[in-house]
Amino acid sequence: MSLIVQKFGGTSVANPEMILAAARKAIRAQQQGNQVVMVVSAMGKQTDQLVDLASQITDRPSAREMDMLLSTGEQVSVALMAMAIHSLGYQAVSLTGAQIGIRTDASHTKARILSISTDRLQHLLDQGNIVIAAGFQGIDENMNITTLGRGGSDTTAVALAAVIRAQSCEIFTDVDGVYTTDPRLLPEASMLEQISYDEMLELASLGASVMHNRSIEFAKKYGVPIHVRSATSDAPGSWITSQPCPSERPVCGAALTKDEARISVLGIPDEPGMSLQVFSAVAARQVTVDMIVQNISEQGHADLSFTVPCNELETALAAIEEALASLGAGRVTYDEHVCKVSVVGLGMAEQTGVAEKMFAILAAHDINIQMISTSEIKVSVLVDQDAAIPALRAAHRAFELEQDLPRRLTGPPPGAVVADAADVAEQLQEIGMEELVLDDITLDTTQGRVTISGLPDIPGVATRVFHEIAAGGIVVDMIVQGHDSHAEDASLSFTVPREHVAAAAEIAERLSQEFSCRGVSSWSDIAKLSVSGVGLRSNTRVAVRTFRALAKAGINVDMVSTSEVRVNVVVDGSSGSRALESLRKAFADRLQGTDAGN
Ligand code: ASP
Ligand code: MG
Repeated sequence: MSLIVQKFGGTSVANPEMILAAARKAIRAQQQGNQVVMVVSAMGKQTDQLVDLASQITDRPSAREMDMLLSTGEQVSVALMAMAIHSLGYQAVSLTGAQIGIRTDASHTKARILSISTDRLQHLLDQGNIVIAAGFQGIDENMNITTLGRGGSDTTAVALAAVIRAQSCEIFTDVDGVYTTDPRLLPEASMLEQISYDEMLELASLGASVMHNRSIEFAKKYGVPIHVRSATSDAPGSWITSQPCPSERPVCGAALTKDEARISVLGIPDEPGMSLQVFSAVAARQVTVDMIVQNISEQGHADLSFTVPCNELETALAAIEEALASLGAGRVTYDEHVCKVSVVGLGMAEQTGVAEKMFAILAAHDINIQMISTSEIKVSVLVDQDAAIPALRAAHRAFELEQDLPRRLTGPPPGAVVADAADVAEQLQEIGMEELVLDDITLDTTQGRVTISGLPDIPGVATRVFHEIAAGGIVVDMIVQGHDSHAEDASLSFTVPREHVAAAAEIAERLSQEFSCRGVSSWSDIAKLSVSGVGLRSNTRVAVRTFRALAKAGINVDMVSTSEVRVNVVVDGSSGSRALESLRKAFADRLQGTDAGN
């Protein structure tokens, strides 16, 4: 018999009528021949109200008691849902996270799922019940109630779908599906019929989220097809599976991350282990670092720029000051008024010119790009906060994302289910379901690097550079631009096929003179290493572990770029195979299906 999980968010169970409507949906699915597990969030704004209540008692509630409190919201809605189903004449049983057996670690208010037992759930389903699971909660080793973090019911739903091997996980919500960008920011956003896990992971982490990021990580690891749909209409919704947008578009979505702060650490010695010291200090304080851009500069110094959420700026700065004091070098600059605009799409891995187009459209709108980081399926730029919406709109329009695509699907996209997910499941049962899993670590020795230092910090420079390079018939792969030691300018590095390094450097030289830059350097023998997997960006430890492995091997990092599914580092070509070896060793316990670690 087929199994499905249906998740209803808070806005979809906000009152008794809506609870009854949700109950009818579940009953209908059961009558169509499915076993049905429902996952339900707290009604309406209940969780917010509970948070508010706590704040009226104390400024610093204990995290354990916070979980005890917040978990009650879901307990109310599952009980009412069961009653609703009973009243309609059907069998249902509600269960808390603990009753299902959702085991988590002990990090209250942001617990991670370790394991889920399925016996009780399966038994109740086999008896003909609709099982109603409380979202967003679990229990730790010592029977303390834990919660998964705000919005965590999505994660409960997909995790349950994973362990019971459901054929799909339906997410009923207050929007019709997944949009090309947040429609509250750009009303012209259009709906996507389907999107891949990787694209969704990037977009969700960048703030365009309809779903909790960790739920998409689960879905990818375990191969769970997700169907996002409206709780109040029968609109066809959007599918999130292994299959990308079936369109000619290289870009499937655009996102804006507001409230970012840029930190630049300037003039640190360009030696193995320096980035590591800065990062491990920041990571040790649990700050999420993003858009890491490391750039080579002249005179044996490296500049490191990255972004952190605004509310973590102070913590990050304190950590860096400490690290620099022990290095005895470097200084810090920061800017709190920045935001990140990104475009995402699996199609850009095969199409050239996406980054160039993005830079061109921003230049046309006179928007200055402060930082750039590209990876295989994402281009991110940092711009001033005042330019946030104009930049997002310009990028969205440049890739024609406002245009509706014709609908083709009547069910999940063909080929949506990942066959080898079972192996992952087995491995993770031992170390914890949300632990990091890597797909691969690869070495690319076909490229070289060009760097322009001292670019004026004005609109239109990046687009000129990449326009000229493209006009020379040269395909650019990785691009990073960060601040450099001379406060008011930037340095831009990019990689091109080795045989084109000389030509690219010549073009760069010409532009360097035109823009009165400080100079161009190039190196035809670089090695690019890519660590790919799930949840790399949110798992700051991955970047730290990468830097640590390379530092230990005495290998200097020249360029870095990170995304949700990949960390890329560029090192000197002569260290390539040693770098690969040391990374494989460092991640041996997390590598899937390779012979690493042997
Ligand atoms: N009720 C929790 C929250 O509001 C969990 C959820 O809705 O997903 O964050
Ligand atoms: Mg929610």
